[in-house]
Amino acid sequence: MMKRPIQLSHDFLAEVLDKDSIAVDATMGNGHDTAFLASLAGKVYAFDVQKKALQKTQERLAQLGMDNAQLILEGHQHVDKYVKEPIRAAIFNLGYLPSADKSLITKPDTTLQALQKILKKLEIGGRAAIMVYYGHDGGDVEKDAVLNAVSQLNQAVFAATLYQPLNQINTPPFLIMIERLKEDERNKDQQEA
Ligand code: SAH
Repeated sequence: MMKRPIQLSHDFLAEVLDKDSIAVDATMGNGHDTAFLASLAGKVYAFDVQKKALQKTQERLAQLGMDNAQLILEGHQHVDKYVKEPIRAAIFNLGYLPSADKSLITKPDTTLQALQKILKKLEIGGRAAIMVYYGHDGGDVEKDAVLNAVSQLNQAVFAATLYQPLNQINTPPFLIMIERLKEDERNKDQQEA
């Protein structure tokens, strides 16, 4: 069977993770991705704005006996306040948390701020996966904003690829995969100046 986007997102990140690496879960939700990343990375920074997400994730990690994830009750747009190390892998699951308040959704502005900050800190060879859920109110606007921003990444610095079901009814989620190929020379100049 062909991989579903969510499966591919994990395989894509697993290929670059090891116990010396830092990973970021930008949208903790039920904690599936946090647990997945924690099983492969040295340390995981996980963000969510809902207490419920932190509780669920905390329980999941405790059951698995994992203690290498830091759960942060704050928006992912503040990722640079917490993550000072270079990032090897990051994941976003956009939209709302199915088991919780469906009006609490990720938003274009903050999603793009978080993405930009994470990409800036991504190691060479580091990867980011974005699962785009867009069937809800407001989902379309966020989908377009993310696709637009990723499409404009400098191709010399990042590879960016889309993996999307084409003949499924409704609005199945799709995956954006990003890999850093090299330093951004413009960033470097700014830092040196
Ligand atoms: N749609 C996915 C789940 C997405 S969960 C699915 O069906 O599997 C998205 C999570 O992002 C929610 O738990 C929500 O609370 C969280 N979130 C919303 N805004 C956020 C922000 N600014 N920073 C971090 N997490 C945020």
